[in-house]
Amino acid sequence: MKTLSDFNFNGKKALIRVDFNVPLNESFEVTDASRIEAAKPTIIKILEDGGSCVLMSHLGRPKNREERFSLKHIVKKTSDVLGVNVRLVEDCVGQIAEDTVSSCGSGEILLLENLRYYEEETKGDRDFAEQLSKLGDIYVNDAFGTAHRVHASTAIIADFFPENKCFGLLLASEIENINKVLNNSVKPVAAIIGGAKVSSKITIIENILDKIDHLIIGGGMAFTFVKAQGGKIGSSLVEEDKQELALEILKQAKEKGVSVHLPTDAIVADAFSEEANTKIEEINAISDGWMGLDVGPRTNEEFSNVVLNSKTILWNGPVGVFELSKFAEGTIALGNAIAEATEAGTFSLVGGGDSVAAVKQFNFTDKVSYVSTGGGAMLEMLEGKTLPGIQAILD
Ligand code: AMP
Repeated sequence: MKTLSDFNFNGKKALIRVDFNVPLNESFEVTDASRIEAAKPTIIKILEDGGSCVLMSHLGRPKNREERFSLKHIVKKTSDVLGVNVRLVEDCVGQIAEDTVSSCGSGEILLLENLRYYEEETKGDRDFAEQLSKLGDIYVNDAFGTAHRVHASTAIIADFFPENKCFGLLLASEIENINKVLNNSVKPVAAIIGGAKVSSKITIIENILDKIDHLIIGGGMAFTFVKAQGGKIGSSLVEEDKQELALEILKQAKEKGVSVHLPTDAIVADAFSEEANTKIEEINAISDGWMGLDVGPRTNEEFSNVVLNSKTILWNGPVGVFELSKFAEGTIALGNAIAEATEAGTFSLVGGGDSVAAVKQFNFTDKVSYVSTGGGAMLEMLEGKTLPGIQAILD
């Protein structure tokens, strides 16, 4: 696996695929620069070697050259975060881009205009990838968030750098940390899978069953399991057509010696709202017309016990509707238990969309071992897929 340290960038131009698809407010200001900060170590290391950086990214999903998706909006923030003046190149391919890149010297950073101004990018067009490839001596992929896409700048372009291609520091550490759970884990290993739907997590569960000792199931998806086992779930979220599948997972887990932990009690509500009336009920005896929106206090204790006795933890998906403070307690209790386990030496990885949002909202980011930056990419890795953006560097 080639990384930055396999190259000396002195006098070289690094063409770096970053994921600067950052959120902007109505005045086009960057509201969360985490993705820019995440790429900083790679960029700084290349500059310190004496190289220059040509950054390429997409922003949003523009149709044609819509100005609101121009990377000009992020130039200032990028310069501030990196501590170096960043120059925008008004196009990402063609004469302007090639001329600007050839005039760029050591220590300089260029930011190419939105890759998705060209539909060839998402189509994985070879000619477009070849044009991009003219803009650097060494190709560096540091965009984990798009590593699951077969786009021109994430996968196809690597063919034009048969020797001179490598992972950036961010992408390398994503791979390393996910491998700590999937391939080199210290036992016992617990996976906490929550969120709304069984259907979106099924492939992950099937892939990890061989690698874990405990499977904690929380969130809306737990009710499909509870109902499938004959429980009364009131009007809680359920996927009727996934009940067979839920029973099949429980059977597979048993055969593989994995202990499955489902909630035993729930905070139930008479409406999906912050003003709802609530009470605690047994998970399999929920009153008609009431829905489970969080795990109950007994479940919190049971889940925490499993977490505190594990040496490796994977957390994907909240165990309740954490966006409403009334139903956030289970997710916070779980976060606290994971933080305590981490402090005692357990490796904890959090990833995939909403659990990352929960971790940020409740300030657990620094209390877990690693928070993955790639939502869809992380989920696909957990599903056992080889990501095209990673494979292209390995080939
Ligand atoms: P996912 O994107 O599949 O990880 O699902 C995350 C979403 O699941 C969050 O928006 C939560 O509000 C939601 N969720 C968690 N628990 C429940 C529940 N008991 N009922 C309905 N939605 C839930």
